[in-house]
Amino acid sequence: MFLKEYISDVYRGVSSLLKGMRKTGYYFFHPKEIVTEQYPDNRATLHLSERFRGEVIMLHDENNEHACTGCTACELACPNGTIKIITKFDISPEGKKKKAIDTFIYHLELCTMCNLCIEACPTNAIKMAQNFEHSVYDRSKLTKKLNHEGSKIREGVE
Ligand code: SF4
Ligand code: SF4
Repeated sequence: MFLKEYISDVYRGVSSLLKGMRKTGYYFFHPKEIVTEQYPDNRATLHLSERFRGEVIMLHDENNEHACTGCTACELACPNGTIKIITKFDISPEGKKKKAIDTFIYHLELCTMCNLCIEACPTNAIKMAQNFEHSVYDRSKLTKKLNHEGSKIREGVE
């Protein structure tokens, strides 16, 4: 009884191995039919799904202007403290004080890509980018400042 089961197990194992090897052998002789992605060799032509979320970024135009008012809605919407908005007060030409963003801190290492911050933003100042190669040796490099150096809010955005 035991011997019969043993032989049957060996038979199943060998036939499963041969099945796999037949597939491998087929693709060895028909390399054009391979459909798996050859990452990272195909990095330039890599196709990512439109809904893929890689990291939160702030949009800046060619004048280094953005649409972030510093309202902190994104910070409040974030469930795990990934975003920290530091604000300041700018003085308008009329001499009025106006709240503005000083630093948009984004902790990529905490982000779950849930998209809640993007949905909460009333001015569409931030969006999800598709970058995904985030590996670093020093985790502090995953803490990013999203507003570019010297950038300012676009005229007319309230
Ligand atoms: S995607 Fe989600 S976790 Fe990431 S910063 Fe936005 S709200 Fe926070
Ligand atoms: S990114 Fe949007 S929600 Fe966040 S502080 Fe700026 S304007 Fe407000």
